[in-house]
Amino acid sequence: MASVQKVQAYLAYWFQLGKPVVLQHSNTQCLPAPVFQGAKFSQAFLDCWQQIMKAPKQCFLTGTDESIAVLLTDEWDIEGCARCTMPLPMPVRGIKVSPCPCADLPSWPDQTMPEPRTAVCSQTHLGNLRHRLAQSAEDTSNEAIAPLDDDRDRLQLAFAHSPTLKRVASRLGDAAAAPRDQVANLIEPAPEELLKRPSEPSALDG
Ligand SMILES: [Zn+2]
Repeated sequence: MASVQKVQAYLAYWFQLGKPVVLQHSNTQCLPAPVFQGAKFSQAFLDCWQQIMKAPKQCFLTGTDESIAVLLTDEWDIEGCARCTMPLPMPVRGIKVSPCPCADLPSWPDQTMPEPRTAVCSQTHLGNLRHRLAQSAEDTSNEAIAPLDDDRDRLQLAFAHSPTLKRVASRLGDAAAAPRDQVANLIEPAPEELLKRPSEPSALDG
């Protein structure tokens, strides 16, 4: 069965090739432009769809025999045309007798022009990708930093509340200070050593 989404996409493709829908009930045609607004259908497209839905039995894509109402039944589905790869209504049972809408487009298929697309906005798609990448980079760096912060906070808290840790830290401080005193003793000779030092021979002696 061709869903509303499928039929809308089908029309959107052909609108992009300049093929309008004939609205027999109002004796007009409808060719919305632009078809898309970003990743969604444009207001012009939605207005056109609303016009079609007022009397779908009397609306046809130009060059086709199946009304939009018929396409929305279980009897029809939207497939790719074998000649041009554009979406094409196909009966679920039986063989299609009317040609693809491309039959009356002498300029189509045209390999040199960009193919009609569905409602995927590349700008939005890229934006989403960028956002996801930035998000995951942010997550990774937060994950790396957060545990370190946690550990540091936990240690500070434990230290502030643990008398044992304070005692150990103070002993460690004393131990660290001790060698410095010994080094200082080595550098500054004890007073008795100064006394014992033999006096240098002087030219004035003797
Ligand atoms: Zn075709």
